[in-house]
Amino acid sequence: MIPVNEPLLDGNEKKYLLECIDTGWISSEGPFVKKFEEGFASFLGTKHGIAVCNGTAALEIALYALGVDKGDEVIMPSFTIISCAIACIRLGAKPVLVDIEPETWTMDVFQMESKITPKTKVIMPVHIYGHPVHMDEVFRLAEKYNIKILEDAAEVHGAEYFSKYKGGKWLKCGDMGEVTATSFYANKIITTGEGGMVLTNNDHYAERAGSYRNLCFKPEKRFYHTELGYNFRMTNLQAAVGLAQLEQIERFIAIKIRLGEYYRKRFADIKGLRFMPVKEYAKSVYWMYGIELDPKFGITAEEMMNRLKKHGIASRPFFRGLHDQPVLNNMGLFVDESYPQTDHAYKYGFYLPSGLTLKEKQIDFVVDVVRKELGQ
Ligand SMILES: *Cc1c(COP(=O)(O)O)cnc(C)c1O
Repeated sequence: MIPVNEPLLDGNEKKYLLECIDTGWISSEGPFVKKFEEGFASFLGTKHGIAVCNGTAALEIALYALGVDKGDEVIMPSFTIISCAIACIRLGAKPVLVDIEPETWTMDVFQMESKITPKTKVIMPVHIYGHPVHMDEVFRLAEKYNIKILEDAAEVHGAEYFSKYKGGKWLKCGDMGEVTATSFYANKIITTGEGGMVLTNNDHYAERAGSYRNLCFKPEKRFYHTELGYNFRMTNLQAAVGLAQLEQIERFIAIKIRLGEYYRKRFADIKGLRFMPVKEYAKSVYWMYGIELDPKFGITAEEMMNRLKKHGIASRPFFRGLHDQPVLNNMGLFVDESYPQTDHAYKYGFYLPSGLTLKEKQIDFVVDVVRKELGQ
């Protein structure tokens, strides 16, 4: 079976883990946590990095840091992981959805303005499969309506966006808003197994994030609490792996881009297929190589994924829209709302093997199978 993804752990991971065990530093108090925080923050160019136990927690912490509270509204795409909605709901706030652009599968930024109300506190652009959201409209609205930006940068370590609005320059995904949440789950570009980080240039947000991660302990007065936090800490063991991964990040990104460009070249002459976008405003890192079938083939993503499986090729479905999640509908959310582009992408889209260990020969095989199944 060609796996969808496989972590590459061929650097200092083992060495740093042994160091944890030899020194006895295995909790979040160990020295790798700070090193990993500083290292990843400096990779993105942000002032602060707050390492946490996963990306879902990072999203909630980031919203908390921004002061999101009961009754506030947060604008996000329907086409995303449920973590985005959960983070919001746990804080008593309301997720408000927009549809996606069919071509990039990222949020349709031109639908956002009509969703803004006096309660809108945050816009949450979610960069998808390695490709950045078209941020300039997000910047414009954030400024016009005094709304904060929380980037979900779980899928875009190393991606960049060219902003005309910010004066015509390349900006790093994860350094474009007030706060960023990212993930180091095992399938992300760099991994700690489970893990995440909150990133910000703002001292106040960083302090709130650090506090919420750690039960809202007060630095000056131990075991005295004025707010409820969580234990969302990252262990030294995870950070040890993270630091070793971070040493390889440029190499990993280069591999992803090489594989993504190779897929593109091989898919170029297949008709009726939408595949990972190339936009003048984006430097994608091709986290996962997504494709979408033209409905005219009469084959859904599910059907195609089954056929690929028979050839030993693993794949994964696209996100099912948040508006189409029973658990959220049962809470009275998004009832009677429709997001047709999200539904379409879910029905016909899926992603192909994209791991760091993938070989060009395997891509040739995958593309040939897809081609044959489409009768080309
Ligand atoms: C992976 C992912 C997350 C969640 O991260 P976990 O570490 O798995 O909790 C959040 N947002 C997006 C877009 C992701 O891809």
